[in-house]
This record gives sequence, structure tokens and C-alpha cells, in this order.
Amino acid sequence: MADWKTLDDMDLTGQRVLVRVDLNVPVDGTTVTDTTRIDRIVPTIRDILAKGGKPILLSHFGRPKGQVVPEMSLRVVLPALEAALGQTVAFVERPNGDELANTPDGTVTLVENTRFSAMEEKNDPQMAQFLASLGDIYCNDAFSAAHRAHASTEGVARLLPSCAGRLMEAELNALEAALTSPQRPLGAVVGGAKVSTKIALLENLVGKLDLLVIGGGMANTFLAAQGAQVGASLQEADLHDTARAILKAAEDAGCQVLLPVDGRVATEFAAGAAYETVALTAETQLGDGQMILDAGPETESAIETEIASLKTLIWNGPLGAFEIPPFDSATMAAAKTAGRLTQEAGLITVAGGGDTVAALNQAGVSDHFTYISSAGGAFLEWMEGKELPGVAALSAS
Ligand code: AMP
Repeated sequence: MADWKTLDDMDLTGQRVLVRVDLNVPVDGTTVTDTTRIDRIVPTIRDILAKGGKPILLSHFGRPKGQVVPEMSLRVVLPALEAALGQTVAFVERPNGDELANTPDGTVTLVENTRFSAMEEKNDPQMAQFLASLGDIYCNDAFSAAHRAHASTEGVARLLPSCAGRLMEAELNALEAALTSPQRPLGAVVGGAKVSTKIALLENLVGKLDLLVIGGGMANTFLAAQGAQVGASLQEADLHDTARAILKAAEDAGCQVLLPVDGRVATEFAAGAAYETVALTAETQLGDGQMILDAGPETESAIETEIASLKTLIWNGPLGAFEIPPFDSATMAAAKTAGRLTQEAGLITVAGGGDTVAALNQAGVSDHFTYISSAGGAFLEWMEGKELPGVAALSAS
């Protein structure tokens, strides 16, 4: 069970509540182009206000590397934040704890980019102490930054009574339901370009899953490790031993692995490129110019059948080059199946990672999944079984 507190456990009346949020939103010059991250923190801010607290928002924005970089001022998100909250937000460059205590009730304050100080990313105790002087309670609502031990995500949490915000709470509950105490059978779809970025994740997952579906470019490495000639397909020849070791670990742990049994093979990496469907086995011999760009129809049906036998599904990474149709086929088919089973059969579906979110949006099933994490790196590190410093600090306080 979770041992971190939530906003429900805290008495916020008249308290300055330091809220670590993730306002690292995409900006085109002076306009926020995607307000998803802002919209997702609104319930936390509203709850704090409703409980009589004064939210003081802390966030990083871009990578100013400890320097004051005017183009990376958080001031640019103010209009979008105010629009999402339906109220004005005070902006402070140099916050002062006493001044923040004397603001009128109902005030929401946004503090300038935490990364303007070099002490932030070093988790310097002096910065943590300074941040702690700005609030009475610390609330972390930035799961997406929880894999970093920075002053605003970790250090300060150890100095003040701390709790998770609503978004963090939802994220941690969803992840816990998916991997810590899942309803079984538990399966995962792991795809994407490379095995090298997902070794730790695969090693951790095979010990926990009942089913692992491997797809995308990384499946080519597994096929090649078994003896297939994959031609010009994306693959990592130096990782054949690793791939074989992962398959062996899966076998030892009783985790069924589903690799593509057929693929859509083209000679050109381009939208609309002509392709042929080729059976994929250890004996497959592709020509020099041939590339497996997507799983084939037989694999699509096999994935559909296997997903239907699960109670919980975790998803990270596309099953093919989904940005260039028709090589989006397997990813779209599996996404739609998972979305439908979530709605109709109570399958618990938890997905995360930048490309995965884009693929699920493309399939139109984002609203059908149980939970989609907006965190990239933190979601992957959680899948790797790592303790996230920002979460650990909440549990310790
Ligand atoms: P990742 O960031 O590791 O999740 O990889 C996602 C990228 O992998 C996407 O841009 C996909 O287009 C790409 N990808 C997936 N499968 C293939 C494939 N078979 N060949 C080439 N690229 C692929």
C-alpha cells in the first residue's frame, strides 16, 4: 500500500502550500501550444484553494542550466494558467516567505523557473531550505519530474510536511494497480525503435508479466538474435546476446513472449510505400534493401487474441513506424482492441511514453484507456522498477 499522504490528509487552512507542478509545456514564441499539462494540475490547485490553502506553484521550464535565460521565463505560461484556473495568478521572480504568507486568501502564486538557479538540479540543501521557507506544506503534483532528485522535487519534500497532489495521486494509484498489485493475467506491449533504450525495462518486466508482446524496430533485434536475416531493417546487432538473455529470463519466469510472426516489408521508409507481407521466423532471409516497418496481419490477430485473455495491460512503444501509414496498421489495430476491451470487458490499460501517447491519440482511443501517463522518463523508470526520488521523498516525510 502507498505510504504517501494526499491532500485529504492535510489541514491546509491558512497554510502556504508549495506545489511542485510540471509547467514545462510546449510554447511557440509567446503562446502555449498544448495546455494538457496545465489542465491536469487544475484540480489540485482548486482543491487547495477550497481547503483554505494558498497555492504557490514551483516548476522548471526548459533547460536554462542554472542561468537566468529570459526566453525560458515561466511568465509565458501565465495567460494559459490563468485561463485554465479562471482567475488571476501572481508571478514572483524573487519569492519571499513572509510576503507569501501575507497575500490575500484565494491568491495563487507562480514562482519563476526553478532551474534559473544552478542549485536546483544539484539538489543543493541550501536551495531546498530556501524553498521550504516559502511554504508550510509541500505538495508534489509533478510525477513527470519525480525521477529527478532536484531541490524542488526531492530536497524540499524532506523538510516540510508533504503530500501528493491529485495528479500525482491518480498516477501513482494507476501505476500501482498496473504493476505492484495487478489483476492477472498481466501483459505488456513493448515496442519502439530500440532495445538499447529498454533493456532495464524488459529485464524488470519479464519477472512480473504473464505475457510480453514485443514489437516495433526492437522486435527486429530479437528476430535477428534468433537467426533471421532482417535485411536493412532497424536492428541493433550488438544486442543479440542481450535479446537472447531477455528471452531466456522470460522463459525461466514463465512469461510468454509474443514476437511478430509476420511483417510488412518495404524497400522505402516513406508514407504510402509499397510493401509485401512476409512470414517472420528464425529462417527468414530478407534482401539487403528490405525493411520490416510494421507487424503483419497474422501478428495483429495474435495480439488481439492474447490481449483478450488479459485482465491488465501496460503499453509502451509503437508496434511499427506508426507515423507513416500504412505502417501504422498493427499499432492502430492493437490500440483499438485494447481500448475496446477496456470499455467492454473491464481490461485495465495503463500506457505511457511520448510516442505511445501520440499513437493512442492517432488511434482515437486515448479516452478509452484506464490511464495514460503524461510522464515520459518517469514512466519508463517506473517500468524499470526504479524507485523515483520524488515519490520516495513523499513517503519518507
Ligand atoms: P521509441 O522512441 O523507442 O518508443 O521509438 C518510437 C519510434 O520507433 C517511432 O518513431 C517509430 O516510427 C519507430 N519504429 C517503430 N517500429 C519501427 C520499425 N519497424 N522500423 C523503423 N522504425 C520503427
